[in-house]
Amino acid sequence: MKLGCIADDFTGATDLAGLLRRSGASVKLHFGLPTRPSGGLSDIEIVALKCRTEPVEKAVKDCSIAADWLVAGGATQLYWKYCSTFDSTETGNIGPVAEAIMKITQQSQALYCPAFPENGRSVFMGHLFVGNQLLNESSMADHPLTPMTDSNLARILAPQVKAPVSVWNRVAQKNGSPIPQEKHVIGDAVEFSDLEFLARNTPSNVLLTGGSALAMPMPEILGIASTENFSDPHVQDRAIILSGSCSQMTQQQVDLYRQRHPSYQIEPETLGSEEIHTCISWIKSLPSDAVPLIYATASPDSVKASQAALGVTEAGTIVEKAMAEIASAAHQLGKRRFVVAGGETAGAVTQALNIDEVIIGREICPGVPWVFSISSGDPVALALKSGNFGTTDFFSDALAILEDI
Ligand code: ADP
Repeated sequence: MKLGCIADDFTGATDLAGLLRRSGASVKLHFGLPTRPSGGLSDIEIVALKCRTEPVEKAVKDCSIAADWLVAGGATQLYWKYCSTFDSTETGNIGPVAEAIMKITQQSQALYCPAFPENGRSVFMGHLFVGNQLLNESSMADHPLTPMTDSNLARILAPQVKAPVSVWNRVAQKNGSPIPQEKHVIGDAVEFSDLEFLARNTPSNVLLTGGSALAMPMPEILGIASTENFSDPHVQDRAIILSGSCSQMTQQQVDLYRQRHPSYQIEPETLGSEEIHTCISWIKSLPSDAVPLIYATASPDSVKASQAALGVTEAGTIVEKAMAEIASAAHQLGKRRFVVAGGETAGAVTQALNIDEVIIGREICPGVPWVFSISSGDPVALALKSGNFGTTDFFSDALAILEDI
């Protein structure tokens, strides 16, 4: 193995896997901490954790175990992947996990760059933009778990880490200034060529961390050879869509899909076991070739009302547990193609389906590939979509891609 990556959620991990796979390199993705010894590994191994909103201590512990496993497997370079909208809180995990990985790799600095130009995420003067809006003026300000109310990445990171944070801004980069000396450095990047610049010009004592796009140049830089193309495995055609993301784009995707297809809304306040069983019975009642959408996706006002009634964590957990139970039941009913919207939601669903390792298939849109669990003779296909990714037709587009396999 040459490149070992740790991702803080499951959709982020498939996003990273899809972009790295573009290079033709062989990429393997593990959901959760790998249980088998490291050995016989691919050139690129990714460990996907569900640690974005976990308490710091737990996140640091799990990421350290993952980092040790990757290093023991021969990784010459580690990469810490988080969301392209820098999703975290003041007590968040991006900084503490970077510090823990640096200890393991004996690197003395970390570079942070969540930019993903293809998806409209850019960093300029240390400020993160989503399209043409500052992060805090975008819909990310209303995220149910990690509302992003500041676009200044140094200011977000500072309370998370023990040493000063500075910015390697784009003007300084263009003027030939080397990376600043502070332990934590935010890197500007507006275009893909800026990311290539960062990846190529960051000295080896610096841990690279960021969204998926900063890792894209790595296969070439590390001299990872392209493998022969494999074709996506055939997966039984029964499908279901599960959406627990409340992001603005997901709301539009849900609105469009439910106009033409069977759909069922679940709401945290009424989501007891009876309601879950009613939902599962409803899925059973549909023709087997129908592709139902189950969604908790709701407007910011409605999410706030649920959170006021139940608490932020509890509202999220109730929905995630329900999605997990519905996913298991759907699998028992013969569903093998799962389209899932939402990072936390995807984590809950993948764990419920007991999927711990996948290979990477075709991309549906930038940052969302189909992935396939092939350990059993009855493979499962997953499309795990981060909240704001994809266009309004995403659900139909994802299903259509598998039609010709
Ligand atoms: P995204 O990728 O858009 O960030 P996530 O699944 O990571 O989506 O996060 C959305 C969170 O919001 C999840 O924890 C989910 O359970 C929770 N959630 C979903 N629907 C609701 C709702 N109606 N009210 C409150 N919380 C919700």
